Amino acid sequence: MVGRCLIAGNWKMHKTPEETGTFIGAFLPKLPDLLDVEVLLIPPYTSLESAGRRLAGSPVQLGAQDLFHEASGAYTGAISAPILAACGCRYVLVGHSERRHVFGDDDVGVRRKLGAALDGALLPILCVGETLPERRRGETEAVLTRQLSVALEGIDAGTMERIVVAYEPVWAIGTGETATPEQAQEAIAGIRIWISSRFSGSTAARVRILYGGSVKPENAAGLLARPDIDGALVGGASLDPSAFASIVDAGRRAAEER
Ligand code: PEP
Repeated sequence: MVGRCLIAGNWKMHKTPEETGTFIGAFLPKLPDLLDVEVLLIPPYTSLESAGRRLAGSPVQLGAQDLFHEASGAYTGAISAPILAACGCRYVLVGHSERRHVFGDDDVGVRRKLGAALDGALLPILCVGETLPERRRGETEAVLTRQLSVALEGIDAGTMERIVVAYEPVWAIGTGETATPEQAQEAIAGIRIWISSRFSGSTAARVRILYGGSVKPENAAGLLARPDIDGALVGGASLDPSAFASIVDAGRRAAEER
């Protein structure tokens, strides 16, 4: 059985179908024994099919970077949960900071996407995180609380357990600046407390909460050793098969030590 640690690689707007095949050909042989860690690749839409074919029979899961809240219709350029599920996706990111800050996804839009993912039998990874000015103004907790409470409105405890939360401070994404293990642990523990008061202690204990923001082979072990951090959402470092495999291995070692 795969354990609760989840290491996810978000490729953003990188890798053609052919490059995806090359990556997976190099990555799979480097993977450690995955008993305690679940691994997820999140390529661009156009590489999902190529990735799904290459990953068939492997323990690595497939996910998508975004979705639209409708299941089908006249929505040029959009992609829906049923289409993603038919491509072999198990997970989908919702509310990634680049969607929020570059493409204008707001909290209510994120809630609609989360609902569509659940209706389409996908497991949403709900991304939340504060900007640097918000952190400097001491608003981290308020921002996280607002993003969580709006996105999770109407969700019951059983459904909450199907949702993964990713704490991704915006100032640490793609900047090379990582939150310290203490900063990440503090924010994630706060998220768990919020889930506990909104749902229950047992729900909060079961929900997986990841850290994301410039995770690399050199800093992964320190982050993943913290008690509330259940895995990592990795951008840049997931584009390199050796670097990503080394982060997966850090997840495996952290899971073994728990
Ligand atoms: C991300 O894409 O979610 C991310 C955390 O990117 P990076 O690891 O490059 O900061």
